[in-house]
Amino acid sequence: MVTPSYTIVCTRKELVAPNVYELRFEKPAGLLFKPGQFLLFDVPLVQNPTDIQPRACSIASTTDEQDLLFVVKLKQGGRMSEWIVNILTVGQVITMKGPFGLFLLRPNDHNILFAATGAGIAPFRSQILHALKQGDKRAMHLFFGVRSIQDLFWHTEFESLQKRHSNFHLHLCFSGEHPNVAGEIGRIQKFLPHFIKKSESTDLYVCGAPDMVTDIKKMGLETLGLPKQNVHAEGYI
Ligand SMILES: Cc1cc2nc3c(=O)[nH]c(=O)nc-3n(C[C@H](O)[C@H](O)[C@H](O)COP(=O)(O)OP(=O)(O)OC[C@H]3O[C@@H](n4cnc5c(N)ncnc54)[C@H](O)[C@@H]3O)c2cc1C
Repeated sequence: MVTPSYTIVCTRKELVAPNVYELRFEKPAGLLFKPGQFLLFDVPLVQNPTDIQPRACSIASTTDEQDLLFVVKLKQGGRMSEWIVNILTVGQVITMKGPFGLFLLRPNDHNILFAATGAGIAPFRSQILHALKQGDKRAMHLFFGVRSIQDLFWHTEFESLQKRHSNFHLHLCFSGEHPNVAGEIGRIQKFLPHFIKKSESTDLYVCGAPDMVTDIKKMGLETLGLPKQNVHAEGYI
């Protein structure tokens, strides 16, 4: 089956943390996706707009939100990064295709641990908001790892969710030395083990920088003894 291609209009481009852009686009009619999936943007080379390559971006919005929401961590010299900074403007029409991906919440009665660094929070926002709205009562712990308070974004929305849903818990993890904020000091890996009561009924979802994803996945399987089918990972290669 041919994956559908869509033209979409950019409605927001905002720097929400150093080197992190929040992007919003009008959702095209007919686009159906599942929380956790991603789209492929057609990204032209800044120096030669006829040279176009795809770049993956996880959908951070839920299926019933009006816009498509994304968050992108800039990579120095990267194609998509340069394009966002120098070319993309609100009102611009771009092309993307999708949805793709199987990074979806499994329907079971397990406790859920979400581990994200930086832009890796994107699919979890979609999944968590969707699940809670559907009345999902599973215990969910979101570990959001950043270096320092300046690198945080979207945390107030998760804090508000935490107040409204007793089964959802946010853990901000600061890997920098002086976070100067309420949260855990240390990398996500330091805290995860305390939240696994029964490994066979715990699901671990990891998303973000490839090194972190590999490390936490390995930890989940080898150190924490989670069964292979309970560990789900999306590396932002
Ligand atoms: C399923 C999936 C979902 C994703 N979702 C997101 C998301 O929601 N948000 C997000 O921020 N990212 C996401 N990513 C990652 C994203 O797709 C891009 O890979 C990332 O943003 C970098 O893209 P870029 O075009 O800016 O950099 P690229 O052009 O791909 O380059 C990456 C890095 O390599 C360097 N580089 C490039 N070419 C060379 C070269 N020839 N020699 C040496 N160095 C080089 C660049 O300077 C840059 O630092 C996702 C990835 C996957 C696979």
